[in-house]
Amino acid sequence: MDHESLRHWSKRAADWAADYHAGLRDRPVRAPLAPGAVARALPPGPPEMAEEMEAIWADFERIVPGGMTHWQHPRFFAYFPANAAPASMLAEQLVNAMACNALIWQTSPAATEVEQVMIDWLRQALGLPGDFTGTIHDSATSATLSAVLTMREQALDWAGLDEGLSGAAVLRFYASAETHSSVDKAIRVAGIGQRNLVKVATDDNRAMTAEALRAAIRADLAAGLCPAGVILCAGGTSVGAFDRIADCIAVAKAEGVPVHVDAAWAGSAMICPEFRPLWAGVEGADSIVFNPHKWLGAQFDCSVQFLKDPGAQVRTLGLRPTYLETAGREEIINFNEWTVPLGRRFRALKLWFVLRAYGLEGLRGRIRNHVAWALRARDALAALPGVEIVTEPRLSLFTFALRDDAATEALLQKINDDGRIYLTQTRVDGRFAIRVQVGSFDCREEDVMLIASTVQEMLASCS
Ligand SMILES: *Cc1c(COP(=O)(O)O)cnc(C)c1O
Repeated sequence: MDHESLRHWSKRAADWAADYHAGLRDRPVRAPLAPGAVARALPPGPPEMAEEMEAIWADFERIVPGGMTHWQHPRFFAYFPANAAPASMLAEQLVNAMACNALIWQTSPAATEVEQVMIDWLRQALGLPGDFTGTIHDSATSATLSAVLTMREQALDWAGLDEGLSGAAVLRFYASAETHSSVDKAIRVAGIGQRNLVKVATDDNRAMTAEALRAAIRADLAAGLCPAGVILCAGGTSVGAFDRIADCIAVAKAEGVPVHVDAAWAGSAMICPEFRPLWAGVEGADSIVFNPHKWLGAQFDCSVQFLKDPGAQVRTLGLRPTYLETAGREEIINFNEWTVPLGRRFRALKLWFVLRAYGLEGLRGRIRNHVAWALRARDALAALPGVEIVTEPRLSLFTFALRDDAATEALLQKINDDGRIYLTQTRVDGRFAIRVQVGSFDCREEDVMLIASTVQEMLASCS
């Protein structure tokens, strides 16, 4: 295959994409397959001789779409969304064509400079003050790992980079049990050790409070341990918990401990000023992560980390061997020094396209609709006999359950086998609950109202 033939096939792919999206409502949201079904459809070894694209394409159509869970389906209410707005997909097509590696400024100045400007556009869009700058990572997991590594090195006065951690002080980090498992992963990978991630108690609202955080830090100090960082939750994955951001940051500041805020999902909602009270005080954080690849429509992957002092992170992650120097250009930014991987995709282009093609007002309108429709779905479910709302909506996320776990699990299985909607589960204080999260870029109110009517149908067919 050459580039002339790519011209033909990429037009065909564009048509395929449009048809695929137009037909999504007719497909089951979750792949209705048994494990191994796709692998068995592939030949056991690679071809020695080139094959015709016609044959490859036919196999793609035969094997792949039916084996997908359709994340862009308007009735995808599972996990959190990974929205790909059409304008974002277009930008990615252009990035694909140029296929750059923006590891340093001079390897693609436009990639670096569009990224700098987009970070600042997003900072303004979220209502954050001008002393934040930032960068784009592949995932919130990478951003949180970068923040944890930076806090580790700050606590060790940058000795860990040279000397390693053996013999170093025992570093302690603090987060509530509502934070995402990516925090646990970062703590493990950074060599801190799971047992040094203190799970601070939460209040009735599932929020970490200032008092609980202060007590945890003081207890560690009294035991001769070294408090190194606090990770706050702004929109937890299970039920959307928010820590008491302002109060906890005040305590961390008073104790001299830096703060990273995980707003991977809920951060997008902060383009709407009325939701900002949920993370009031966030401007005091040292680092904030949010994923435009979730609710904002910039397709996966695109995770933004805002930083108060990028110098600390660059000192932790930056390496500049001679082959990565740009002669005579010390003023330029090399974003690989802000992140764990060296190579980096041109992820800012899709942000530029999305922000312009929908405007902040267009994006706010979607998020506001999702929040309002989630409330309506909650009310419709609460009205069904036997259904209990387990956690009330936080933005567009709530949970419900039947009286016993086994019945709830069976109901979820039935709903997802049916395929018209897709929901996933969590545990709330040990109780099995079904999560409902409204956030698909193209969903309409009638899609959301189908949640309660489907549950009603499934319940009727159970009895
Ligand atoms: C989705 C999510 C993450 C993980 O995001 P990745 O980009 O997949 O690493 C972390 N924290 C929260 C709160 C999330 O919702």
